[in-house]
Amino acid sequence: MILAANLGFPRMGSHRELKTALEKYWKGASSAEELRATAAALRARHWLIQQRAGLAHIPVNDFSLYDQMLDTTAMLGVVPPRFGHAGGHVPLDLYFAMVRGTASAPAMEMTKWFDTNYHYIVPELTAGTAFTLSSNKVLDEYNEARFLGIQTRPVLIGPVTYLALARMTDGSDRWSLLPRLLGVYREVLGALARSGADWVQIDEPVLVTDLDESAAAALRSSYALLGQSPVKIMLATYFGAVGDNLSLLAQLPVAGVHVDLVRAPGQLEEVCKTVPQGRLLSLGLVGGRNIWKTALTDAERLIERAREWRGAKEESSLMVAPSCSLLHVPMDLGDETKLDAELKSWLAFAVQKLEEVAALANAANGARDSVYFLENARALGSRATSPRIHDPAVAARLKAVTQVMAERHPPFPERIALQQALLKLPLLPTTSIGSLPQTAELRDIRARFKKGMVSQSDYERFLEDKTAEAMRWQDEIGIDVPVHGEFERNDMVEYFGEQLKGFAFTERAWVQSYGSRCVKPPIIFGDVSRTAPMTLHWTKLAQRYTKKPVKGMLTGPVTILQWSFVRDDQPRRDTCLQIALAIRDEVLDLERAGVKIIQIDEAALREGLPIRKKDWADYLGWAVTAFRLTASGVGAATQIHTHMCYSQFNDIIGAVAAMDADVISIETSRSAMGLLEAFVDYSYPNDIGPGVYDIHSPRVPSQTEMEALLEKALQVLSPQQLWVNPDCGLKTRGWAEVRPALVAMVAAARAVRQKLQAAKARPEPV
Ligand code: GLN
Ligand code: ZN
Repeated sequence: MILAANLGFPRMGSHRELKTALEKYWKGASSAEELRATAAALRARHWLIQQRAGLAHIPVNDFSLYDQMLDTTAMLGVVPPRFGHAGGHVPLDLYFAMVRGTASAPAMEMTKWFDTNYHYIVPELTAGTAFTLSSNKVLDEYNEARFLGIQTRPVLIGPVTYLALARMTDGSDRWSLLPRLLGVYREVLGALARSGADWVQIDEPVLVTDLDESAAAALRSSYALLGQSPVKIMLATYFGAVGDNLSLLAQLPVAGVHVDLVRAPGQLEEVCKTVPQGRLLSLGLVGGRNIWKTALTDAERLIERAREWRGAKEESSLMVAPSCSLLHVPMDLGDETKLDAELKSWLAFAVQKLEEVAALANAANGARDSVYFLENARALGSRATSPRIHDPAVAARLKAVTQVMAERHPPFPERIALQQALLKLPLLPTTSIGSLPQTAELRDIRARFKKGMVSQSDYERFLEDKTAEAMRWQDEIGIDVPVHGEFERNDMVEYFGEQLKGFAFTERAWVQSYGSRCVKPPIIFGDVSRTAPMTLHWTKLAQRYTKKPVKGMLTGPVTILQWSFVRDDQPRRDTCLQIALAIRDEVLDLERAGVKIIQIDEAALREGLPIRKKDWADYLGWAVTAFRLTASGVGAATQIHTHMCYSQFNDIIGAVAAMDADVISIETSRSAMGLLEAFVDYSYPNDIGPGVYDIHSPRVPSQTEMEALLEKALQVLSPQQLWVNPDCGLKTRGWAEVRPALVAMVAAARAVRQKLQAAKARPEPV
């Protein structure tokens, strides 16, 4: 028998019931009992879906009211001291306070979970941290399912992954905590065994990352100990190939091993031959990171090979599963009412993916549902040939792309001189990153427009009024390079996706980003091209209100790619370059219309970095080419800006420099310019706008504060190189904060400018 399993299920509910319940509770509009009841109902519903699909191993404790790393932190009782917890059980309100912050204690940080768009809460530990079992969540949920007559497989984040992702706030060695941490894990595994758990899934995605010797040693000692527990451990790896960690993995004394064969189908043979006989091998054959149907016959072939390589008598030790938790895909394709039948026939969300898992297991056991497999083959066939997907003109254009096409001429020093002659900007020019406040009024009218309650012309008139108002205001306060404000954009990717060919949008395909926050990524299903200008109208409109050069605003190809579900039938690189060509057309249209400054945002360049260092160069190679392709069609006098809203540049600064944007704006205000270091060490040659206004906070920075930041930047950058701007777009802020903040920013720039000029006027000391 080959059994079917799942590793994790989306938590929100098909109508985002969990989001609603959480937000209601946080507002004080419902009780903890109501929140718990909603959560329990969702869990029960989701277990039943999985049971009905025919799964033998159904996960529990994959559910969370906020985040599974935070749950682990609560389980271990390691609440950061600033929350004043005396120890012991972590109550619900403390659990939320840790991520939402309190008046006296800032929230814990969050960051991306491996290469996903899911954010986890970063544990904060010190050498003195003591671990005590402080939450019964896993046990309670296991018993809750048992009470419903469902035997489940509890999921835990592995001790090594937990420690690897923690922040040691005192800079001490994380691995010194391992023995104490393992004590709690042993306790939990023992309690689960006593309650009747047979298998426990322990996730160690660190096994697909570059591990150093101490992490490897931590894995060895952890599983030497946990392997003695009275439960069977399914050690789960996902998000890539185990690679050079395979012999380590194979040595760990666990009962089962799960591997990702969607990201890394090539590892099957080595895994089969290296993982000792007698271990249950869980084959991750159905993609948990994307929304496409599985090629079932290809997956069947992999099962066949696994049977061969493991030996016939070993076949009862194989299992079929999704590649990773289904947390990263939307819940149910059945909820989509507006996607056409053909497009839907190509897709599978979590519920459909479980059907695929079950169908594969059944087929391997001799009960092949031929109709189901036939339909799958038909859908795949239509995807391979559909003219909606394959546009020969786009393919031909992509083929004609050359490196030369992606180069800007002349080199930067000559370009900037030409630009300066044309633009005549003062030293330390002021600008902003693009969006201006999206007020409740704006969001409301957009919602009503989408529901058909406001006409297209009324909606557009409203946006035009807002744009005009924003332009007049920027002129009045003396911003050197104004922006139109992006009022017409709901989202920086969606806005472009909606106007490009090859994109589809869903109604309910929500994916959890963090806590109660969900995103609805567009689906790039086909060749991408532009049918008409996308931003020209708004930029031209804005230019009418000012003599200053309005900056045209575009989202870059890597960011559009990174925040979408991307087709899996061609390399990501090709899809990215197609998007780049479409954006290039827009850049050229803007230039033709007289726009002299164009910003191409690449907010997500860094987060696209592959998990393994060895894959970085390839990614950065095509990502940089894609950006350059969008930018390189313009004349030397047209100024290209880019923007990246993060802070860590040390390890990618070469690639950032290779993008060769005339001006880059980055996020630096919180680190008080510390982040400029990478640029300085590299002697980054082009212009830079290090953010002087932290837009993540409602606080209005003072002129003096921003002056001090500029002075600090001038210690390492030349005045000719320095721009003045906020950290990022202002759409989430209110006008009441943005107005005084930008006025102060302009004043700060002017003050520093005057000082510079005064210094220049002074004769050189002898
Ligand atoms: N131009 C975008 C804005 O200002 C950039 C947003 C971002 O970098 N995330 O909103
Ligand atoms: Zn940004």
